[in-house]
Order: sequence, then C-alpha cells, then structure tokens
Amino acid sequence: MKFNTKVIHGGQQHDPSTGAVMPPIYQTSTYAQSSPGDHKGYEYSRTGNPTRTALENGLASIENGNFGLAFASGLAAIDAVMKLLQPGDEVICTNDLYGGTFRLFNTIFQKFGIKFHFVGMDNTVNIEKAINNNTKLLWVESPTNPMLNIIDLKKCAEISEQNNLLLVVDNTFATPYLQKPLDLGADLVMHSATKYLGGHSDVVMGALIVKDKELADKLYFIQNASGAVCGPMDSFLVLRGIKTLHVRMQRHSENGRAIAHYLKNHPKVGKVYWPGFEDHPNHDIAKSQMSGFGGMLSFSLRGNKYEDAIKVLENLKVFTLAESLGGVESLSGHPASMTHASIPKEEREKTGVIDSLIRLSVGIEDENDLITDLEEALKLV
Ligand SMILES: *Cc1c(COP(=O)(O)O)cnc(C)c1O
Repeated sequence: MKFNTKVIHGGQQHDPSTGAVMPPIYQTSTYAQSSPGDHKGYEYSRTGNPTRTALENGLASIENGNFGLAFASGLAAIDAVMKLLQPGDEVICTNDLYGGTFRLFNTIFQKFGIKFHFVGMDNTVNIEKAINNNTKLLWVESPTNPMLNIIDLKKCAEISEQNNLLLVVDNTFATPYLQKPLDLGADLVMHSATKYLGGHSDVVMGALIVKDKELADKLYFIQNASGAVCGPMDSFLVLRGIKTLHVRMQRHSENGRAIAHYLKNHPKVGKVYWPGFEDHPNHDIAKSQMSGFGGMLSFSLRGNKYEDAIKVLENLKVFTLAESLGGVESLSGHPASMTHASIPKEEREKTGVIDSLIRLSVGIEDENDLITDLEEALKLV
C-alpha cells in the first residue's frame, strides 16, 4: 500500500458489529466480563480502548512500523521513552531541542540520575565525541526548531548500530509524509500529534512508533504502568486528522516554498531559514532523506531589532500569533520571547535565536493572502 492510501486505510477495519466506516468513539472506562478474566480483548481503558487501538494501528502503518502507541501529549510520549533508561545511563541529543523536551530532560530526568549531552548534531562527529560506555540513547530532532537544521539520520543510525544505542527521532516537524525515520534505520519514532498529525489545532496528543516487538512490549508496559494515555475522543480526532495528512502536507510544502522565496527577496528581511534553499548548510541531506521541505520556516529582520519583530507579529492578520504549529491555519511566533524565553540571551543567540527571529508555521490558506499579509506587516518596519 502506498502512503496516500495508508493514511486512509492503514491498520483500519470497519466496525465489526455495525459496519461503521469510522471507528466509534468508545467512551467507556471498562468492559463487561462474562466470567473473571473472560473478556473480548479489553479490560480497562488505560490498558486499551478500541478507538485508541484504531489510531495506534494507523500510526504504525503510516510510519512503516509494526507497533504504535498513543499518549496524552508529545511530552508524555517522550517521558515513556526515557523510562526505558536506568540511573547512570547517558543520552546524546540535539542542542536546539524543542524547549519542552529540554525542560523534561534537564529538570526531571537529570534528577533521576540520567545524564544528557546537548551537541550540534548537524556535524555527526560531535555525536561520536560524546559517546562513552554509559551512552544508551540518541535523541534526534530533524528539522530542528526554530532554526530548521537538518540532521543526517542515516549516519545517526550507523553510529547507533556501531555503539549499540537506541536511536529515537522526533518526527513532529517532518511527519511521515516527508520523512520516514524507521526506513532510515531509527529504532523509534516520536510525534507530538498535537501538530501535523492532528492538524487542526484542536487536540493535544503524543505518539511512539516502533518495529521491534520487544521494544514495543517494554513501551506498552510503561504506557499502562505510568498511565499517560489519551482519551477516545482525542484518538478519534487524530485518526480523522491523519486521513488528510498527505493533502495537507502537500499544500503546507507548496505554501512554505512560496513564502520562503518571497521572504528571501524582501529588502527588510535578513536571513531565511528553510531547508529547501540550495544554500541551506544541510540542503543535500534534506534532499536525500526528505521528500519535500514542509511548511516550517524562520526569518530574521535586517537590523535585528526586537521592536521590529514585535511590530510585524502584532500586525499580521491572517497569521495568528500563537504557540504550536502544524495546523491548517498559519501561525507566527517569536522564539526569543515565547518558546525560547527561558534560555539566557547569550545561549540562545549562539544557536541563532536572535531578537528579530520570527518563526512561521505556514498553513494551507491561499498563498497570495499569506504573502499579502506579510507584505502589509513588513511595510510597518
Ligand atoms: C510540540 C512539540 C513537542 C511536545 O509535544 P506536546 O504535544 O506539546 O506535549 C515535542 N517535540 C516537538 C518537535 C514539538 O513541536
């Protein structure tokens, strides 16, 4: 089955009792047993719920995995992965990690004796340098947020294989439409399904997808034991979102390309960060491991004035100034004062998050309306 068919049919079956084409929202916490232990596969909805099962099977299908697991949020999914580790274990991760992931690693899991190394993974030599006998896991985001750096996932898989590490890829930005980490050698794919998979800014959810049965069993145990599961209504919404992932991602990518080029030629714009440009430092890797470049991009303003960025953001009308990304509507953000505000100015500027940097999640509206919106706002600075 090809990807565009998998998003609609992968892992799905019509409801066996009624023929319902979409799985019903099984809004139940428990299931009747005819005799103790004699049930129809479901005992309690933390452990399993049929609507969640339908979603989990769909997730496995679209990422070319064998097992999917859905969680209450992206961070709950990451939390479950980290619980595979023991005190004393070490993790190597991208240095411009999603802020919430950084906070979870650095404040919660560090306290339990896990050590994290944050390295610039766009040069994979930095990964090899940080490996020692305690290293157990590589945590990779590609493209990264908000600088849109690209990490060579095949190379990461080689390094993981040689050193017996678990390779985890946060595939939230790319989605399986653009990039399939399991095919490139990753052991585990993680999603904030809140973003593109859900796609409509109406749900918070996380997901994990793996190929290996043993690893899946460990994660199912953690999912049930720790209990950060998602409810049936949210499972239904994300399953519905996934059915249009391919058409949405195609339009996100087209609009992203148009806006990246528009901004690149604008006299008031400094740099545009978008992996589709030939002069992007990792363009060749992006081209080899992704089938397109998506709708996420960042840009700075000439003169790099904080007030100018604020003025542009306050005056965008089609783009909504908001946290999050990946929905059908275009969103804008100011990393220096929003997502990256807790990072000291000097630190954030080292990774490129300067005062005038603006991040866009380009939606699927009409391209010309989006460009006109940017044009009007940029006139004011
Ligand atoms: C949003 C996001 C997360 C966290 O997911 P939540 O659903 O907000 O908990 C993790 N990684 C990336 C890349 C994200 O964008």
